[in-house]
Amino acid sequence: MSFISNIFGGGSSNAAPAPSNVKIHPKIDNGFPQARAGFSGGTLTCHCATNPVKIKVAAQSAHNHACGCTKCWKPTGAVFSQIAVVSRDAVSVTANGDKLQIVDPAAAIQRYACKDCGVHMYGRIENAEHPLYGLDFIHTELSSESGWSPPEFAAFVSSIIESGYPPAKMDAVRARLSDLGLQPYDALSPPIMDLIATHAAKKSGALAA
Ligand SMILES: [Zn+2]
Ligand SMILES: [Zn+2]
Repeated sequence: MSFISNIFGGGSSNAAPAPSNVKIHPKIDNGFPQARAGFSGGTLTCHCATNPVKIKVAAQSAHNHACGCTKCWKPTGAVFSQIAVVSRDAVSVTANGDKLQIVDPAAAIQRYACKDCGVHMYGRIENAEHPLYGLDFIHTELSSESGWSPPEFAAFVSSIIESGYPPAKMDAVRARLSDLGLQPYDALSPPIMDLIATHAAKKSGALAA
């Protein structure tokens, strides 16, 4: 985890924000709790009423954020997803793993979804050359435990338009994200973009490995 902690650092949370007509995500719109000190993970459960898929995550999440891309799973009605990373070593399937299928085997991130309810349980990168290899992507809202690291920023904000969000409302969305304490970015956050660029530079030889 020190790798992740060093790269991603900690985030800060905020008190209950003022209500707004601009909806982001049901777990974000009304504010969100701080990370709990010493929190060491929990169990993610899919939305199936019977025989749900369960994933054990034996670590605190890092880099939790709102994501506007079209690939991340979102609950019904949400404009953004909420997604975090953990070391892949901390992730294990503990129940009904036979219901998991990879959404798009050709994608860099292999998102394992429940065949029955469609919820994405974890995303994994199998290409060891990928800059984010070693990190799995998880939705902490699938856990009933509280104490996960809170969302820290918003990524791929402009991409919500690709899902049909009205372009004329983007100023209001960015303003709302800022009110919530989530700096809006149209890619990933600067620390992750720097990590990706550093990986590329070391590979090309532009920086010493
Ligand atoms: Zn399910
Ligand atoms: Zn996304």
